[in-house]
This record gives sequence, structure tokens and C-alpha cells, in this order.
Amino acid sequence: MSLHTSLKTGGPADLFAIPEDTEDLRDLLSWLAQRNIPWMPIGRGYNLLVRDKGIRGAVISLENFNHINRIEGTLIKAEAGVENLSVVRFAQKIGLGGIGFISGIPGTVGGAIKMNAGAYGEGILEMTDHLTLLRDGSIRDYRMEELDYGYRHLKLQDGDIVLAATFRLLERDPQATEEEIRKDLELRRSKHNVGFPSAGSFFKNPQGQAAWRLIDAAGMRGVKVGGAQVSEVHSNFMVNSGGATAQDFMELAALVIKAVQATSGVTLEAEVRIVGEV
Ligand SMILES: Cc1cc2nc3c(=O)[nH]c(=O)nc-3n(C[C@H](O)[C@H](O)[C@H](O)COP(=O)(O)OP(=O)(O)OC[C@H]3O[C@@H](n4cnc5c(N)ncnc54)[C@H](O)[C@@H]3O)c2cc1C
Repeated sequence: MSLHTSLKTGGPADLFAIPEDTEDLRDLLSWLAQRNIPWMPIGRGYNLLVRDKGIRGAVISLENFNHINRIEGTLIKAEAGVENLSVVRFAQKIGLGGIGFISGIPGTVGGAIKMNAGAYGEGILEMTDHLTLLRDGSIRDYRMEELDYGYRHLKLQDGDIVLAATFRLLERDPQATEEEIRKDLELRRSKHNVGFPSAGSFFKNPQGQAAWRLIDAAGMRGVKVGGAQVSEVHSNFMVNSGGATAQDFMELAALVIKAVQATSGVTLEAEVRIVGEV
């Protein structure tokens, strides 16, 4: 899994499947169910820390689910495997926008929806009209009011797969979107260019506080365990400075949590999803 995750850690998955389309995905899921094989969906692995023994069961990549189209008016529908920036660019071409804040968030619509990815106080689910989910073998659209979500989280049932998201956008001059994209990418180049592989922010920001500030106040900037390091550039980024194992990251995260608890009394919670066998 180190080849499929931006932190570049993790042993192998038993199976790595790339279904062609919905029918293929359904066949795959029933094949796995008949054999009692567990599975998990993956986007581009930009928010995943896979443990060193890897993943028992199947990892399912929806990279072939990459269609995007306009439904009507300001509604556009993007399948789970579409890259975030492609959503913004597609909308821009037809004079729609308001979702420029996802331009520089690496990954796919599926991953962004599950994480309620966002920036500058906005989350992708706020721009979402409804989700198309594969749940218990049936495909149905779920309006956002039917779902439980919040900061960097969407509660799904075990076994749910996001097939597509339909966004309700705003009419926007393509030039204004261009400017939004440029600003976002520029800001990220200056702030997020940490020089090593990372998964972006490792911890969620506690209510009303910035995790990086708490980590700095605890003196943890630059601290290393094996190849895992609290970035010198952005202290809420943990980087793989070379040959880090998932165990290195787990130990470093535990140290950070303990230090922040001791200095500020706040318990940090990982934003990165930690999966796989210990
Ligand atoms: C440099 C850098 C900067 C970043 N900046 C930001 C930022 O500003 N804001 C932000 O929110 N995040 C940021 N991230 C984190 C990451 O980009 C986001 O969380 C992104 O949404 C992950 O997308 P992905 O496709 O790689 O998902 P993955 O990491 O592959 O998966 C994330 C989770 O979603 C689940 N999932 C994936 N696809 C589906 C599906 N189709 N159905 C159901 N579940 C699914 C996976 O099982 C997993 O639990 C950053 C990461 C990096 C490396």
C-alpha cells in the first residue's frame, strides 16, 4: 500500500481491485461477500496511514469512475474517481463555481466526500446537493438532509460506497474562478510545500483552535521518530523524511498527542484515517 498512499507506508493488501463500472463493482462485491472477504474503498490515498502489515482483504479503487456532467442549471454530477481540480475546471468551463476551495486538495471526489474535505472554513459537503450511494446492494440518491456530517467527517454505514456526488454550484465568471484557483494553488505552494511526502494535516483542528499552534506550543515542531517527522515547515503535517514505517508515524502521533495534552489540556484527534493490520 506504500505505492497507493501519499505517506508511503503500509504493507500489502491481499487484493487490489479496479472495477470498470457499477456492474463490475457489484459483481466484485458479491464475489467478495460469497468468500467473506472484507474490503475498503480508496481514492488516491492522500489521507490514509496504512499500518505495516497491510490490509487483510480487498482494497477497491474507483479510479475508473471518472465521468462528470451537468445535470441541469447549476447542478453538476461527478463520479467518485474524478479529481477535485477537475470538478472545479469542469464547472469553470460552463460558467459555474463556488467550489474553488477544493482546487488544491489532492485526491478524488469519493475521498473528499467521505472526509468532508475543505479549506478556508468551507467543506465540500456544503456545496453538495445529494450523494449517490451504493448501500446494501442498492443504488439510491441521498439528500444531504438525510445524512449526518460535520467538520472533516461524513457518517456513512459500513459497506457504503460513494458512487457520485451532485454539486449545487453558483453562476460564476470563469475568470473569477481562474483567480480563485490561482490564489489557492499559490497559497498551497508557499504553505504546504513541506519537501517530503505527507497526508496534509495529520490532526483535526480542535473547535476554535489551530492544531499546528498547539503542536508548536508543545515544542514538537521537527521532532522525529525513525523516518517520521513533525514537519519543520508546517507543524500539523507529519512527513515521511525517508523510510518511515507506519509504526514510526503511530509513535510520533502518540508523542504529539501526549505533549499537547500536557501543555494545553487538549486531546488532538487524527484527521488521517488509520487502517490495516497492526
Ligand atoms: C499536501 C496535502 C494537502 C492537503 N490539504 C488538504 C486540505 O486543505 N483540506 C482537506 O480536507 N484535506 C487535505 N488533504 C488531505 C486529503 O487530500 C483529503 O482528505 C482528500 O479528500 C483525500 O482524498 P483521496 O481520494 O486521496 O481519499 P483516500 O485518502 O484514498 O480515502 C480517504 C477516506 O475516504 C474513503 N473513501 C474513498 N473513496 C470512497 C468512496 N468512493 N466511497 C466511500 N468511501 C471512500 C476511504 O476509505 C478513506 O476512509 C491534504 C493532503 C495532502 C497530501
